[in-house]
Amino acid sequence: MCDVSLGGAQASVRLCSEVVLRDEGGSKPPHSKERTMNRLSYLGDRAFDLIVIGGGIVGSGIARDAALRGLSVALFEKNDYCSGTTARSTRLIHGGLRYLETLDFKLVRLDLREREILLHIAPHLVTSLPFIVPFYSRSRAYRCKIRLGMTLYDLLSFDKTLPSHKRLTHSAMLAAVPILKEQGLQGGFLYYDAQVAAPERLVIENLIDARAHGAAAHNYSEVIGAWHNGNSVQGVQVRDSISGTEIRVKGRMVINAAGPWFDLVSSRVATHPKPRVRMTKGIHIVCPPLSKQALVLFSRVDDRLFFIVPWLGQSLVGTTDTDYCEDPGMASATVDEVGYLLESVRPFISSISRRQIHYGYAGVRALVPEQGEPSSISRMHLILDEERNGTPGLISIIGGKITGYRAIAEEAVDMVCAKLGIRRDSRTGSIPLPGAREGKPSGFSIPDFIEEKAVQYLISLYGCGAAQILDLAQADERLRAPLAPGRPDIAAQIAYSVRNEQCVRATDFLLRRTLIGFAPDQGRNALPSVVSWMGEELGWSPSKRNEEFDAHMQWVRQTQECLKN
Ligand SMILES: Cc1cc2nc3c(=O)[nH]c(=O)nc-3n(C[C@H](O)[C@H](O)[C@H](O)COP(=O)(O)OP(=O)(O)OC[C@H]3O[C@@H](n4cnc5c(N)ncnc54)[C@H](O)[C@@H]3O)c2cc1C
Repeated sequence: MCDVSLGGAQASVRLCSEVVLRDEGGSKPPHSKERTMNRLSYLGDRAFDLIVIGGGIVGSGIARDAALRGLSVALFEKNDYCSGTTARSTRLIHGGLRYLETLDFKLVRLDLREREILLHIAPHLVTSLPFIVPFYSRSRAYRCKIRLGMTLYDLLSFDKTLPSHKRLTHSAMLAAVPILKEQGLQGGFLYYDAQVAAPERLVIENLIDARAHGAAAHNYSEVIGAWHNGNSVQGVQVRDSISGTEIRVKGRMVINAAGPWFDLVSSRVATHPKPRVRMTKGIHIVCPPLSKQALVLFSRVDDRLFFIVPWLGQSLVGTTDTDYCEDPGMASATVDEVGYLLESVRPFISSISRRQIHYGYAGVRALVPEQGEPSSISRMHLILDEERNGTPGLISIIGGKITGYRAIAEEAVDMVCAKLGIRRDSRTGSIPLPGAREGKPSGFSIPDFIEEKAVQYLISLYGCGAAQILDLAQADERLRAPLAPGRPDIAAQIAYSVRNEQCVRATDFLLRRTLIGFAPDQGRNALPSVVSWMGEELGWSPSKRNEEFDAHMQWVRQTQECLKN
């Protein structure tokens, strides 16, 4: 054993082993058959203070906030947690420089305040990121406008711990980002925002904490209807998509946090539903690394702002913003949209080509309906008490960003508490998420069987939950097996996710418990061993194993469609 100090914002890896997202009913993981047949039946006997529909960042944040206040909460997610818009974002925790242009100061201030809170309560997941804004042949007036924006951004984040913006000369700019085209470059600015490389884990950790405080949370459980007393919602009808069974769950209040599925869910639970959401689609492409810093660029095609962000050793380029009215679950990047992003990047970085792109993905925003171009619509959230619209007991959440999720959750649960006559304040602004429970870093013992780099990687994903993975590997030598050559992931992560994080499908593990599926190979090298270890853990038949293998490959193919010439 050797001792190393992890330094920086990393969390200590002890004392968290009691906080897990286990299935109900004890410490031993239920066998697959028990898991699928009886998962929801215990809920039928209970009446919850609050039922949350949707296990994205907003729903999971609400469940945690409410559970920490002592409310009884049930959350239902129709697919896997974080399989909707949250996982298809640019993964930034930012106020959004762009929203200063639309004079959305309230939104920018709220998100800058939340950025600071997240840097403190989830330092293993939310990290600072330098951004560079280069100028090319811009007028003096334009440069002054951006400088003013930078100053305002600093002023609006007066309580920040991140450094303030800095002017960069032409040569400093080229030294920082050598790949930038030199012709026409005038210099620019450096400023700091934050990134959540794995919003998927932010969702899981919110749910881990919600469940540690008594909440019931179930993935693969779709809300298919509601029942009412008069117009008042009394509970929801849930279909377990694994076993096909249905159950009625009683709740005093119900929150619709279904993101872009908002209108569909509303049509199932509200007594007088009407369309409330404007959906817009945004795509990203993932390619080899272009820059160590994030770049803020303005497309020469339409002058829209877009980002090139370092992510998992690659570059994430995006996004677009176009109206969308199909099923949000079917949204994917198109050949033309990828063409637009390439055309936008090339004036600044000429070496990028379609052949280099690893894959592309799309997400759907659910925005408060407003007239105008999609990019001009406010990202501010709206929380509606549907009693005013004829459905007492129902609360609707529309819009918002990942960055502001905690504040949105707090506001929504304040409304729930007011309705239920409960007086308890939110505590999520100061209590760290489970992976950061100890707050301050301290020494951590690294077992002999694993390299320090691999431990750092585990901590970047699980925070202090990494200790539980190492404990599993310490106790069972087999679980030290790597999942793919050259990757730090080990089989113990699978055991941990299946037993503690409701991971039931191979894609859950590859895309939402880890980020293995977002590597350049999209998890193809790890897939056979992931299926094999999960199969062993969950007792899968050979045909189930094939099905799981194919499901991941289908996702790979879908994200490659946009790369065809
Ligand atoms: C392209 C793009 C880039 C973005 N970039 C950023 C960014 O960098 N930073 C930022 O802060 N924000 C960003 N956003 C915004 C942010 O991603 C969203 O505001 C946020 O993820 C919305 O979270 P949510 O929980 O409301 O929705 P979702 O994550 O979509 O979650 C809703 C969940 O509800 C579930 N559901 C639906 N119907 C049912 C049902 N009947 N029963 C049970 N469950 C159901 C869905 O399966 C889904 O998982 C971006 C958005 C897009 C599209």
